[in-house]
Amino acid sequence: MNTTPHPQPSPGGRGGNRKNHGLNLAIIGGGYAGMAAAVALSARDIPVTVFESAKQLGGRARGVWHNGTQLDNGQHILLGCYRHTLKLIGQVGGNIGDDFLRLPLQLTLHNRFELKAPHLPAPLHLIEQLAIRAGWQTTPASSLVMLAGLLTAQGLSFAQRFSAARFMLALRRIRFILPRDTTAHDLLRTHNQDEELARLLWEPICIAALNTPVRKASAQVLLNVLRDSLNGSRPDSDILLPRVNFSALFPDRAAEYVKQHGGTVHTSCSVEAIVPHGDTIELTATRDAGCVLRTNLFSHAICAASPASSARLFRAVPQLAPVAAQIAALAFQPIYTVYLQYHEAVRLPHPMLGLDRGFAQWLFDKGRIAGQHGLIAAVISAEGLHQELEHEQLAQKVVQELRERLGITAMPLWHQVIAEKRATFSCEPGLARPAHTTPLSNVLLAGDYTAGDYPATLESAVMSGIQCAGEIFHEGCP
Ligand SMILES: Cc1cc2nc3c(=O)[nH]c(=O)nc-3n(C[C@H](O)[C@H](O)[C@H](O)COP(=O)(O)OP(=O)(O)OC[C@H]3O[C@@H](n4cnc5c(N)ncnc54)[C@H](O)[C@@H]3O)c2cc1C
Repeated sequence: MNTTPHPQPSPGGRGGNRKNHGLNLAIIGGGYAGMAAAVALSARDIPVTVFESAKQLGGRARGVWHNGTQLDNGQHILLGCYRHTLKLIGQVGGNIGDDFLRLPLQLTLHNRFELKAPHLPAPLHLIEQLAIRAGWQTTPASSLVMLAGLLTAQGLSFAQRFSAARFMLALRRIRFILPRDTTAHDLLRTHNQDEELARLLWEPICIAALNTPVRKASAQVLLNVLRDSLNGSRPDSDILLPRVNFSALFPDRAAEYVKQHGGTVHTSCSVEAIVPHGDTIELTATRDAGCVLRTNLFSHAICAASPASSARLFRAVPQLAPVAAQIAALAFQPIYTVYLQYHEAVRLPHPMLGLDRGFAQWLFDKGRIAGQHGLIAAVISAEGLHQELEHEQLAQKVVQELRERLGITAMPLWHQVIAEKRATFSCEPGLARPAHTTPLSNVLLAGDYTAGDYPATLESAVMSGIQCAGEIFHEGCP
């Protein structure tokens, strides 16, 4: 065990050069939130040091290997309205056109339901294109696209389609803001969305976006997502399916960017304590072999670790203990991903396909998306009966569903179930999410669960990181 006896003043710390405003930041956690903060600060020539406890960057959105195949710890999708994430991926050298399969919104529940954003007839499509170029987020034409989509959805009666369109119009009239938050289930009932309509249309959207069952989900957060996706411009509702793994997509590139801007990224380095010293911060960290290090002094620390880790670190600092209690009060929801590797010829009818009343909620054809032929990812979001099954049983259930619903009679060559039991916070009405600032002015908090109007997503993680970086300069999220 090796302990540095005294904290050393950091080279870029207090009294640092004018270019970096005398700032020198520690970032705890190399997930999307931490790396977003690191990039935002590096872009302003602020030296940052990232500490990531795992061997690789990415946190809950990371690449993993199984049987010589590159997977993710869970199949993720992005939406066109994830502006901050997409911009940052571009900033660190990604190419959105190459990195994603971009599809116009299409929700298909196999043989049961289909909603598509239709192409607008001329000259309405021109109005929309001009409005997008002018930077408008919602236009009369974009609303028409979604209303047309709802009115032409297949698998619903005329009355149901009309009811769904009327619901969207009612939401637009109140600008997607509820006077008081309630559950998504209650909101749907108040607006006469019958059980079948809710099951085929709104529940899949709610579970995919909020990872929380409609009976528990916050109606207001659901409306925030609908406002920016279904009610936004047509590209906002696009679905982006990644062609590269989630560590490579952003965090690895972000680490290169940080290094090129004079920063440092430590992996396999877990922060064990935050030690405030007046207006500086020292960290205690352990490296892979368990050796304990005391770091240099930093002007600020951004804690972008997982909620459990952040609560643990904050609990030990008296001024931060109330924030730790707020984090510890959050409940969590799981996401299971079942990867099935079939022989190369096996394909799904769409890159992304839903199942009505299936164990598997969404299926992804990794062959169509990323050239990984025969690889299918089945996603099961939020709490449910699947949690009671052994992984082997769950995989067999999904294999059976693919056989019975899609006629895939072959047996997979291998399968892998990845259960993220605390995938996201449970997004419930009126939740008090912790702020980015804390009672210590030089300790900030980032992460998908911190204050914001989005559910736990890559976009909310990235926005929180940018927001923390902005707080250093007393700016908000752009
Ligand atoms: C299976 C699954 C599917 C998902 N699907 C989607 C989707 O389709 N679309 C979407 O937008 N979002 C999705 N999400 C949510 C998304 O992945 C998260 O919102 C996002 O990755 C959270 O990022 P974060 O940086 O806030 O936290 P994390 O990713 O949890 O990052 C925290 C990091 O801190 C590190 N750390 C923890 N403790 C310490 C310590 N003491 N010292 C140093 N480092 C530490 C961790 O190792 C981790 O890397 C999904 C999540 C899961 C799990």
